[in-house]
Amino acid sequence: MKYISTRGGMMPLPFSDVLLEGLAPDGGLALPESFPQVSAETLESWRQLSYPELATQVLGLYVDDIPSETLSKLVHAAYAPGVFNDAQVVPVKPLYEQTSLLGLSEGPTLAFKDMAMQFLGQVFEYELARRNTTLNIIGATSGDTGSAAEYALRGKKGVAVFMLSPYGRMSAFQRAQMYSLQDQNIHNLAVKGVFDQCQDIVKALSGDLAFKADCRLGAVNSINWGRIVAQVVYYFWGWLRATSQAGQQVSFAVPSGNFGNILSGHIARSMGLPIRRLVLATNENNVLEEFFRTGIYRPRSAEQTHATSSPSMDISRASNFERFVFDLVGRDAERVKALWAQLSTDGYFDLSAYKPQFEAQYGFVAGVSSHADRLRTIRETLARTGVLIDPHTADAVKVAAEHVEPGIPMLVLETALPAKFGETIQEATGQLPPVPEHLGELQSLEQRVQVMDNDVEQVREYVRKHALL
Ligand SMILES: *Cc1c(COP(=O)(O)O)cnc(C)c1O
Repeated sequence: MKYISTRGGMMPLPFSDVLLEGLAPDGGLALPESFPQVSAETLESWRQLSYPELATQVLGLYVDDIPSETLSKLVHAAYAPGVFNDAQVVPVKPLYEQTSLLGLSEGPTLAFKDMAMQFLGQVFEYELARRNTTLNIIGATSGDTGSAAEYALRGKKGVAVFMLSPYGRMSAFQRAQMYSLQDQNIHNLAVKGVFDQCQDIVKALSGDLAFKADCRLGAVNSINWGRIVAQVVYYFWGWLRATSQAGQQVSFAVPSGNFGNILSGHIARSMGLPIRRLVLATNENNVLEEFFRTGIYRPRSAEQTHATSSPSMDISRASNFERFVFDLVGRDAERVKALWAQLSTDGYFDLSAYKPQFEAQYGFVAGVSSHADRLRTIRETLARTGVLIDPHTADAVKVAAEHVEPGIPMLVLETALPAKFGETIQEATGQLPPVPEHLGELQSLEQRVQVMDNDVEQVREYVRKHALL
């Protein structure tokens, strides 16, 4: 299995090479040359597998440069009991009629990003040791991604993490989660500024190619292929849990931002998994819903991006969307290149000619959810089922209800637990959400964080001094 770029300018590379890279050298994103097909027979033979066993099978189709026994060990370490709080790793929780939650938030940071990051942590450590090299991950976070990366890479050999966060602007729970890590390879840098300024510092440092090479800087952002492929597994898992026989169809509803999570659903469907609909839910930042409604993709500026109560979906451009467009235009890399060139000159592109295929060929439908929808959905779901859902999951539950069909199970991807978003839960229900028992002590733990000015040079000095070389 080799990987190519959506813009056609990369020599085919094996998995381990694309794993450690961000963007392809031509500015595109890595994808496999073709999607491996899973027959109905093979799928049926996977029914009894545990989550790590299933992950070994699915990931094995994409990873042929790591021996399968090694891959199995890495995957079992990633999804070990004790890492995830549920014995199933990903529990399916019935809500009502044919609608259920696919529980992706049982990991250490209570959000679905743990599903991919835990795998990434294991393969990074393996691959860096094999190459006898080191990597210093630098990133900016306003909450979810940074903490998932830290929990996945803490204590791992050959890799250090420098995570910038906006000083005083994260919730007490998020601060406690990140800053209580005492591992020597985890560096929390709280910058006196907002998230965008943290991001600008990261861009400045990783854009300085000499510094990047000297300090062996890397990233684990949402375009990383290792993350996308790890997420494909839980679509198979969900299908196997929601059906009892071959060929039955299941729909999935996905709270979306960067198009990473639902892209993995598109890939599972392209591998032959009987997925009927992929229901894309956005919040008020509806760039993607607009595309699936009109065929026009028009990213927005930071100023046009609303700060909402489902903050992990507050995006202005969907960084993984290019991978879907590549498939949509028949894997024509020249066309993709032209479309992204048009984005930078005109600010949009128009694929409305493909509109009839969005649902008929790819299963995509979309909808929007607002703050009022979120509050109402959280309240009504609790009253009707006794299940408390987080604001992101609520966006998907709301939109799923608009697309559910008789006889077709609808799995809503639960992308976070309510404990992370106390304020909105309180606004919706009048009560704070329960904190999972195993995290009760978190807020009383000692915290370890470097406070810095909004100053590239201060951060540069710190990284230079502490980078693993
Ligand atoms: C990251 C995130 C999302 C959005 O996922 P994408 O892969 O960016 O589409 C949704 N919900 C939560 C809780 C998240 O952390």
